[in-house]
Amino acid sequence: MKKLKTKKVTYTNPIFNNMTQEEITDYQEKLLKKQLKYVYRNSEFYRAKFKEIGIHPDEIRTLEDYYKLPVFLNKTIEREIQQQSIDKYDHPFGLHLCTSPDDIAFTGTTSGTSGNPTFTYTFTEEDLNFLNRYIAHMLDYGGINAGERLLFSHALGIYATSSILFGVRSHGVLPIDVDVRAGSQMILKYAQMTKPTAAMMTSSLTEHLIDKAPELIGMNVGDLGLQAIFTVGEIGIGIPEVKKKIEDAYGCRVYDYLGELGFSCDSDEYHGIHCVAPDLSLFPNDLIDPETKKPIEIYNGVIGELIITELNLKALPRIRYSSGDIVQVFTSECPGCGFKGKRIKFIGRSDDMLIIKGANVYPSAIKKVVSNFIPEVSGELRIVLDTPPPRVVPPLQVKIEYGADFDTHKLPELEARIKNELHTQVRVTPNIIWCPTGSLGKALTKTPIFEKNY
Ligand SMILES: [Zn+2]
Repeated sequence: MKKLKTKKVTYTNPIFNNMTQEEITDYQEKLLKKQLKYVYRNSEFYRAKFKEIGIHPDEIRTLEDYYKLPVFLNKTIEREIQQQSIDKYDHPFGLHLCTSPDDIAFTGTTSGTSGNPTFTYTFTEEDLNFLNRYIAHMLDYGGINAGERLLFSHALGIYATSSILFGVRSHGVLPIDVDVRAGSQMILKYAQMTKPTAAMMTSSLTEHLIDKAPELIGMNVGDLGLQAIFTVGEIGIGIPEVKKKIEDAYGCRVYDYLGELGFSCDSDEYHGIHCVAPDLSLFPNDLIDPETKKPIEIYNGVIGELIITELNLKALPRIRYSSGDIVQVFTSECPGCGFKGKRIKFIGRSDDMLIIKGANVYPSAIKKVVSNFIPEVSGELRIVLDTPPPRVVPPLQVKIEYGADFDTHKLPELEARIKNELHTQVRVTPNIIWCPTGSLGKALTKTPIFEKNY
């Protein structure tokens, strides 16, 4: 691909670019105090929560005071208070709603694959206008300008990703929104006809289209003319092999983003999501230990469960919301672009966490290390559990598929290298069970990481 000098990521709101980290913290503290008073005044749920813990928002003077509060919300509680608001007020948004339901301009849910969908992404017009600037900033950073077209292929409609379309339009970019359920052929056909300069898709779809394009539209994805791809929602391009494969095939940069909270930089190497929105959320300064739920001090490289607190949203702001996502936070300057703010990398989900000899181990971290050995391995693996997690009696049993063309005589040597990397990076020395390519199977939706034998 074309070699450019890496462009530095800046904060979306330029006032932060000249602030020190301490000044940014002070700024967030002011926003937090205002927001806590707002939610206390306007939401039945948050008011009850403060009363339950015996604290009034006025008593929270610093961010440190705030980080000590218990978790207020998670998916389970969200579902409960949604049901209560249906029963009590005839709307599904939950008792934490801070405006009238009449003021809602957009609502978006997660897929609802595990239980009822949650209307987590519910915004007023003012909220949308506030959020749009972050998406516009990211497109601008990726070199996408007004007047250009963007292939948008996610599940459309009631799903959260649809809210991103407001930001795309606000930047003067025309979305070509093809619902992912239309299938690869339709997606590629629209791309061929409308000549977008950018695309927003999951990284698995982006990868899938590489193989499908020659057969379905008679051309390579590299000839579509894309100049930037933005992926969301998966570890995806955090795996170097995946990032390189996509960039080589499409001949353009691929960025990873986390809604409005941030995006990865224009660098050959992946340096995580750059947190560009300190005025939107306390993310990622608020981490808890996934087991004890106690706050964790932030330092370069720390790993913990992400707590979300939205500082400026009006309709359904999340306050001390436990996301279940385990992230690693970097406070050092980005080695790729020089961004001075915080960066994060996804490590896994708290519900997948294993505890081996007292240490927290995340399956996705194991998968990431093993993926670095593609094509010697296929990338598919299963962690075999004989007893219910999280505690595992060592050694951890891991089934790994060797690559299709791999000479099995060399397995002992490959095994030693993989074990060495897992020991260095994840601090686990597993027992590897080798399997032929394709024998573990790959699900079309979400491939399981565990093989449960209990
Ligand atoms: Zn960077």
